[in-house]
Amino acid sequence: APGKEPQMFVRALFDYDPEGDKTIPCKEAGLAFRRGYILQVMSQDDATWWQAKLEGDANPRAGLIPSKSLQERRFALRQPTAQTQVQKIPRRKSSGFRRSFRLSRRNKKTNKSMYECKKSEQYDTADVPTYEEVAAYRRPQDAKHRLVVLVGPTGVGLNELKRKLLISDPQHFGVTVPHTTRPKRNQETDGVEYHFISKHLFEADIHNNKFIEHGEYKGNYYGTNLDSVRSVLAKKKVCLLDVQPHTLKHLRTAEFKPYIVFVKPPSIERLRETRKNAKIISGKDDKGSSKPFTEEDFQEMISTSQQMESQYGHLFEKVIVNDDLNTAFNELRAALRRVETETHWVPVSWTH
Ligand code: 5GP
Repeated sequence: APGKEPQMFVRALFDYDPEGDKTIPCKEAGLAFRRGYILQVMSQDDATWWQAKLEGDANPRAGLIPSKSLQERRFALRQPTAQTQVQKIPRRKSSGFRRSFRLSRRNKKTNKSMYECKKSEQYDTADVPTYEEVAAYRRPQDAKHRLVVLVGPTGVGLNELKRKLLISDPQHFGVTVPHTTRPKRNQETDGVEYHFISKHLFEADIHNNKFIEHGEYKGNYYGTNLDSVRSVLAKKKVCLLDVQPHTLKHLRTAEFKPYIVFVKPPSIERLRETRKNAKIISGKDDKGSSKPFTEEDFQEMISTSQQMESQYGHLFEKVIVNDDLNTAFNELRAALRRVETETHWVPVSWTH
């Protein structure tokens, strides 16, 4: 209907700058954005260039952004290791603006672009970070909380942040109890330190995809399963979970609505200054051994962090630099309070 704006909102999962884009019909018409921005898509009429506005902008102006399919093709070209072969169709040389514009017109008619995938080796576009459709969400008063997932390299301080949150409000926050197949020790209580289960049951649960993560230590299995997350959430507590980033895909469901926080180290100089006398804890939940940080630990922390950010950055809703622990804690606490009480954007599939 005339005058009625389309109500399609997406979260951008990549950075875009029209200045550096050789194929945009007109750079001035482009809309720059960064990963994580919310865009209101005004038109998808053109197969190559959509029109969109920045959400929450005081003076929103509609501009051109790459369509989902254009971005998928570009991503495929940038990933030589991807299990696809994308063929670059040779094109005639001509000058800047007109060439691009013509290309885009041609695209519109034929629905083809400069690049074409070989039919037999179609690229799996499900994993390509383009746009994710989102909708406004506000947690109803009596509803379960979103699952809070902390991700970051070993030694960055996930356990310290978790512990500080728990101490700050033990009624409000909760953590999962892991499962193990090792025998219960005398002073331990089933369901407190661990859920003690048989090897047979543990293996069945692995087989049934019930574990978020699991590992083996001295011949016994240890791991955290989805039901232990469910039991914390059922108590109407905010469940704090730290995981390896490869598990995020498994957790990103309407049931858990994970709020994924990436905890990032500061610069290597700041690590040296602030972690000089600190100890690195290896193994889960502080039960592992600890030793002073070495220069190699700092370097590994930074390179792991960069790797995590480039591979999984599009899944992080919040990034916190843990330079000073108290500052990072306050930032996290404030972000969680907003997520618990305010309207924010979540994938549209989580809202119906
Ligand atoms: P313990 O048997 O002394 O309680 O724990 C021994 C080791 O089991 C820990 O140092 C840690 O490496 C491992 N562990 C404990 N909980 C978990 C868990 O939830 N997942 C994994 N993968 N390992 C765990």
